[in-house]
Amino acid sequence: MNTFKGKVLEVEYDPGKCSHAGECVRGLPLVFDSSRTPWIDPDKADADAVRAQVAKCPSGALTVRNSSS
Ligand code: SF4
Repeated sequence: MNTFKGKVLEVEYDPGKCSHAGECVRGLPLVFDSSRTPWIDPDKADADAVRAQVAKCPSGALTVRNSSS
């Protein structure tokens, strides 16, 4: 499990579950950019948009929670 910490949210990514359908990259390309390291930057969109995109992940590879301070 890989964790990507933003100021408001943390996104977790489980590469073993990802079906590489590219849903996240197409839906919110500023946050999910597979050509960048780290490839997920939760601060590049507002929290609601990130939550909504994570909810659309068809494989359950992405999860989101509030950042711990
Ligand atoms: S939306 Fe989910 S399954 Fe699709 S590429 Fe992104 S992490 Fe992988």
